[in-house]
Amino acid sequence: MSEAPVALVTGGGTGIGTACCRALAAEGFRVAVHYRSSGASAEKLAAELGEAFGVQADLGDEESIDTLVATLKERAGRVDVLVNNAGANVNAPMLAMKLADYDSVAQVPRGTWYLTRCILRRFMLRKKSGRIVNISSVVGHTGNAGQIPYTMAKAGMDAFTKSLCQELAGRDILVNSVAPGFIDTEMTEELPEDVKQAILARIPQQRMGRPEEVAEVVAFLATRASYVNGSVLHVNGGMYGG
Ligand code: NAP
Repeated sequence: MSEAPVALVTGGGTGIGTACCRALAAEGFRVAVHYRSSGASAEKLAAELGEAFGVQADLGDEESIDTLVATLKERAGRVDVLVNNAGANVNAPMLAMKLADYDSVAQVPRGTWYLTRCILRRFMLRKKSGRIVNISSVVGHTGNAGQIPYTMAKAGMDAFTKSLCQELAGRDILVNSVAPGFIDTEMTEELPEDVKQAILARIPQQRMGRPEEVAEVVAFLATRASYVNGSVLHVNGGMYGG
């Protein structure tokens, strides 16, 4: 088995997750590219990155997460960095939102909590070291009409970061969030053109961000950062500073 440190990136088969996998591979990590349904792109990325490998799990299903963790144990034997990047969104106003829509969004932070507990128990606590980076969002701070479950989930991710940081401080396991603004990925591609224009008008840098611009900050937190802990780093072109 390779001696290289291992980074698990959830939702690594698409968008920001893919950029995080590339950035961490460039830092010398063997990357476990997690996916739920984007298996083809995740496996293609893993092949391109060389030492990397794809791992499937639905974060809405604990058994699936248990299988993922067992696979990591078998294939890598360690997880040094966990990037909780997976996220789901449904766009609809409060009164049109269905309970099933809410559940499809809320199952991701629930599964993220469960996965993180598994990774801590199995790998990081034994080694007394680790880095956890949670991908939240600017809208968890500002709110956003039409995205109530999503904004609740993302505000929750930052609260998760702060609370977990306090539980783990002293064991060399650092926990931080990266809160992207509007980044050019499939998630934002789906937005109607008038909504996109309204968003651009709110961004002082007058453009959407690139996935690589988020991944760079994730890579810093996963490697060089040693005294940034329980923080939310905003990557949003000046929209919101916290
Ligand atoms: P994306 O391409 O839609 O990525 C979402 C990822 O989450 C996908 O890879 C998907 O995996 C995974 N996922 C969703 N539900 C899942 C589940 N139940 N179990 C396991 N994996 C699940 O969008 P993105 O823009 O790259 O977003 C990445 C992260 O950044 C998300 O947390 C998002 O909320 C956050 N973010 C994005 C923006 C933006 O402007 N794009 C802004 C702020 C925050 P599969 O495709 O394999 O199913």
